[in-house]
Amino acid sequence: MALENDPIERSAADIARDVNAGTISASEVVEGTLAHVDAVDARVGAYLTILHDAARERAANVDARVRSGERLPLAGVPLAVKDNMCLTATRTTCGSRILEHWIAPYTATAVARMLEAGCVPIGKTNLDEFAMGSSCENSALGITRNPYDLSRVPGGSSGGSAAAVAAREAAIGLGSDTGGSIREPGAFCNLIGFKPTYGRISRYGLIAFASSLDQIGPLTRTVEDAALAYDAMAGHDPMDATSIDRPVEPAAASLRRDLHGLRIGLVREFDTEKLGPDVDKAYDRAYAELKALGADLVEVSLPTADYGLATYYLIAPAECSSNLSRFDGVRYGLRVDADDVQAMYERTRAAGFGSEVKRRILIGTHALSSGYYDAYYVRAQKARTLIARDFETAFASCDLIACPAASSPAFAFNAKSDPYSMYMMDYYTIPMSLAGLPALSVPCGWVTPAGGVEPMPLGLQLCAPLFAEPLLLGAAHAYERATMHAVKHLPLVVSGARA
Ligand code: GLN
Repeated sequence: MALENDPIERSAADIARDVNAGTISASEVVEGTLAHVDAVDARVGAYLTILHDAARERAANVDARVRSGERLPLAGVPLAVKDNMCLTATRTTCGSRILEHWIAPYTATAVARMLEAGCVPIGKTNLDEFAMGSSCENSALGITRNPYDLSRVPGGSSGGSAAAVAAREAAIGLGSDTGGSIREPGAFCNLIGFKPTYGRISRYGLIAFASSLDQIGPLTRTVEDAALAYDAMAGHDPMDATSIDRPVEPAAASLRRDLHGLRIGLVREFDTEKLGPDVDKAYDRAYAELKALGADLVEVSLPTADYGLATYYLIAPAECSSNLSRFDGVRYGLRVDADDVQAMYERTRAAGFGSEVKRRILIGTHALSSGYYDAYYVRAQKARTLIARDFETAFASCDLIACPAASSPAFAFNAKSDPYSMYMMDYYTIPMSLAGLPALSVPCGWVTPAGGVEPMPLGLQLCAPLFAEPLLLGAAHAYERATMHAVKHLPLVVSGARA
């Protein structure tokens, strides 16, 4: 069980309450967190950069603000930031050799809003290179381990932020989700992984992978913390032309106790039997728990969702090939000199990008090239529209959709030897990304995978119509409070550190 009185166990909501009340200072919270990070991160590998000095300075600043009478919604909350988000004067690597020594000249809007709300940045976290992957194994700069079983991956691409929050090395982690990169690591690490509606949180200062899909969101140990983070970050930003100019309904005020009056759709085409008997049973139990909380379970159909993976793996690489063309040895990061400029580009990009990134650039460039553009890119865009329409139809007969968050629990390192089996991890999350919908993963049970010794967490994905974040978080809160699946096991790396 979670040890409620241990400072590193506290939720962001509790930390902010105590710091605002003056019963603990932000500096004390941050010293405790840094000491814990220094004790465990060599084993977990969540952080690429630990910001000891910046964290202490920020914490002192939060304490001064609180002393002067300000009340901050996230006062003194230790924050882990995925290393594809800019933070002024800090190394921002994207997990890539090409940006290994690049220092960000400005701060991403989402990060700035979290700092303004009182958060203290503890460090920048590992990720699959340029957010391409589902395990963090594609990082060029380090290995991140799952705090619940160090022989397993934390998920990806936001695996460093997930591992940091699971290992109590931060209370909130920021991730980015293009096709599942917050929800899948959230599921693997026993966390809430929440991707809001596309455009709801500014992408300014998030280094682009696939601009029509990328969305920032929080990884937290409680739904309430996810709601607080969302309330701090959501809203229009004139610096991001795709950010949506529409008032934000606060989510932290909408947390529910039950699911009475809600129709929850189960997707006919999402057959969980193929996930194995234990996992299948766990999801059946999760759906029964939703019903026991008062929800009406209804069957819905997403007939084109099965095309999601193929659609995504044309659109995302196409956008990636365009976005990553800026890393040319001239403007940012690594440069490998040569006799002429063409050779310099080639050498820089050959040395700077890893194999998954190169694969995506090649696929994307091919899909966009003349003669193939209509056959691949345009058809994928049409399929994307059909998938979004399927969701619209489904939401005519339900308020939320429930399904798995990932195709398996966290797997062992090197278990996915071909790209396709790795891509399959996001089978259940990609359709929502293509449709721009808000979705989250909430802990829903434990299984011990074949060949494993530790029980590993499973995530239930809940998905809502566009802009229905308060409803989504409200329902997830009712489920979390009633079931308390998350607190059944503590990561060994945390209990071991105390022993
Ligand atoms: N795993 C998917 C990919 O590799 C999704 C990544 C993401 O959401 N950033 O593209």
